[in-house]
Amino acid sequence: MSGGTRPANPDARWDHEFDVVVVGSGAGGMTSAICAHDLGQSTVLIEKSDQYGGTTAISGGGVWVPCNHLLEAAGGKDSVDEALTYLRQATRGMVAEERILAYLEQAPRMLRYLEDKTHLKYRTMSHYSDYYPQLKGSKPGYRTLDPLPCDAGQLGDDFKAMRPPQPGTLIAGRVAMTAGEAHTLLTKESGWIALFMKRMASYWLDIPWRFRNKRDRRMTLGSALIGSLRRSMIDRNIPLWLNTPLESLVTDSRGIVGVVANQNGKTIRIGARRGVILAAGGFEHNQSMREQYLPKPTRAEWTVTPEANTGDAIRAGQSVGAKVDLMDHAWWAPTVFIHGREKRRALFVERALPGCVMVNRNGRRFVDEAAPYSDIVYAMYADNEKSGANLPAWLIFDAEFRRKYPCGPLLPGMARPDKSLPSSWVGSVFYRSDSLDDLAKEIEVDNEGLLATIDKMNEYARTGDDKEFGKGSNTFDRYYGDLNVKPNPCLAPIAKPPFYAMRIDAGDIGTKGGLLTDEYARVLREDGQPIPGLYATGNTSAAVMGPSYPGAGSTLGPAMTFGYIAAHHLAGV
Ligand SMILES: Cc1cc2nc3c(=O)[nH]c(=O)nc-3n(C[C@H](O)[C@H](O)[C@H](O)COP(=O)(O)OP(=O)(O)OC[C@H]3O[C@@H](n4cnc5c(N)ncnc54)[C@H](O)[C@@H]3O)c2cc1C
Repeated sequence: MSGGTRPANPDARWDHEFDVVVVGSGAGGMTSAICAHDLGQSTVLIEKSDQYGGTTAISGGGVWVPCNHLLEAAGGKDSVDEALTYLRQATRGMVAEERILAYLEQAPRMLRYLEDKTHLKYRTMSHYSDYYPQLKGSKPGYRTLDPLPCDAGQLGDDFKAMRPPQPGTLIAGRVAMTAGEAHTLLTKESGWIALFMKRMASYWLDIPWRFRNKRDRRMTLGSALIGSLRRSMIDRNIPLWLNTPLESLVTDSRGIVGVVANQNGKTIRIGARRGVILAAGGFEHNQSMREQYLPKPTRAEWTVTPEANTGDAIRAGQSVGAKVDLMDHAWWAPTVFIHGREKRRALFVERALPGCVMVNRNGRRFVDEAAPYSDIVYAMYADNEKSGANLPAWLIFDAEFRRKYPCGPLLPGMARPDKSLPSSWVGSVFYRSDSLDDLAKEIEVDNEGLLATIDKMNEYARTGDDKEFGKGSNTFDRYYGDLNVKPNPCLAPIAKPPFYAMRIDAGDIGTKGGLLTDEYARVLREDGQPIPGLYATGNTSAAVMGPSYPGAGSTLGPAMTFGYIAAHHLAGV
């Protein structure tokens, strides 16, 4: 990896000294490092893992930025007042208004800055609805942006150290697609077959590249985001040190003045003349922190994030007196077990498709299956409180759903039928039976409850009106519905055997509690005063979105924005 050769260190306390030390190489950390550098600060980015990119690299790479500069040219309209009205309701008074205002003011500036000065480019998504269309100030599109693809060849050898995308975000586990393309393929919009052929051809015909690499040269989603930022760091010669976990923060009477890290087994001390920006993700993989803070039951293996995110930076902040907030919240997502390197996959969209239902152990529904992924898990915990019969929940579908749509690791049966799947998947990844009765017995769900639920769902499919939970009744639900299915694109009968079940756990795509920061991304003490020289962003900080998930891109937008804000504040701009 590129590394900074430092001039002889004038201060014997330090092995290295920079103006700014950034911890963690997700989008929050890389944006911070690029901005700090551009503001004249010598900057180093340290990363715990042997790969850079963090959860960001395996993500959709989308950002949620109201009033972004691309929106009007694409035909959208937005205002800070509407966005503020929306966020006030969504965050339910759990976040200081100054922070929300800082986000709304600075996020469009951050985006424009990165588009002007770096390789990162975005496209606004005209039909990707905010997640709570029922709230005043929401928009049916344009606030979510999808990164434009970029060429992995431009990263040179650095490409190899980038965390690879999860197979689930690739066609046939190999071929990259943008969020817009994924939507076209999944919902079978017109032109989907031509698009499929084009993508496959461009992958397979890129023969010189494929001789050297199985991964697609065309980077999309989180890979496009991290690839573009990494390339911009390389242009600037910003050192990125892999295998260098933060261990603790160094303080003196001025505040935070450096960090202690471990580099390949050796303790090193890095001085930070202007400040330290913590961007080391959340605590998803730390089972004891999960048990201390999150609702129970909770398991580290239910998350889909990389294993390095163990809350180290949150703990380091706490040990110098920082206050934490929102620790009982996560960016929840229902996840399913799968075999192989990936281990877990989040069900972001499949639940919205017609012909499936989600039930608890009583065979009862407890949520609109098409609701935002975060809300599904909140509903699982709420139902478990009441019924004691959730966690896990079960997604039930029939042969027609199985034939037409992907679900977790299952490709549509018409592309990959059951007989081509490893036999070990039956009874672990999914369950299957010729009758709903037998399926219910096998997964230990009350069969009378399940049969009654399926009867009701079939009636709702006929009328198009889900009288209990309103599945398919709003723009967000319908975004991932099948528009060829009438009268409701999210409802179809569950009637054709065999019947299938998948176990749904209360997973997440990151935790959202962390160090409490102010509108300048400064970490605050218990008494509300900032700790001089200490900043945090991304999932190391308590989310500006509070308990909500206002739209696709609500985690990366703030991670990058508060990184941008932190860099400006510590540079005194
Ligand atoms: C499948 C999937 C899709 C998603 N899609 C989206 C999306 O489209 N839009 C969106 O907004 N969000 C999305 N998310 C969520 C989003 O990816 C995360 O919330 C976001 O990446 C967090 O960014 P971060 O910079 O805080 O942390 P990360 O990207 O996780 O980066 C943290 C980095 O810090 C490193 N680190 C940890 N401990 C240390 C230490 N002690 N010292 C040094 N380094 C350390 C980690 O190794 C990691 O590289 C998705 C998540 C998943 C899993």
